[in-house]
Amino acid sequence: MKASKKRSYLLLVACAALFLGASSLRAFDDGFSYDRKFEGKYVTVYCAPGLDLPRLAPQLNILPTDAILAGRPWKAGDPTDGELAPMLDTLFVQVSDILDMHLESFKTDIKICGTDKELAGIYKLLFGKDLEGHRAFYIYDLNTIYVAPDAFRQGAVGHEMSHAIISHYFDVSAPSRVQEVLSLYVEDSLKKKT
Ligand SMILES: [Zn+2]
Repeated sequence: MKASKKRSYLLLVACAALFLGASSLRAFDDGFSYDRKFEGKYVTVYCAPGLDLPRLAPQLNILPTDAILAGRPWKAGDPTDGELAPMLDTLFVQVSDILDMHLESFKTDIKICGTDKELAGIYKLLFGKDLEGHRAFYIYDLNTIYVAPDAFRQGAVGHEMSHAIISHYFDVSAPSRVQEVLSLYVEDSLKKKT
């Protein structure tokens, strides 16, 4: 039991908001272009080439009622590329409400990778080590969420959004373990809602 407790603690810390040194940032190019960039109110979304966005967007499972309850506009019809940002805005409002942490003028980037390998490659470039098991992560210094295409779901994206919000909400950064507990609470709340 002791070993499993230690393992779960390591996973928690590994999943928290990640910080970089200034030297890592200077040389960093994640390869995302501005060709498939969509601006929302709370998020800017970048999509890797080749991603089928009309198929990807429904994975978020954002319903018209979610948008209405979050006070966000809802456009009827099949999701097209441009509707991804409003859906993520709705999710951002939901996560802020669950945390009861509302940041003024805050915006974060979300970059959807083409493959798991691409996500792992970005992590390796940033940290010089393998991405062990995670399908999404948030980098504080870049204010960016990176996510694998299969992990582009309400729970996982909401979890990483909560890291972005929590790490900018407090003047003094909360311990990473506390941040992770809150992020798991957000993920769980979103799962219960659906
Ligand atoms: Zn986490």
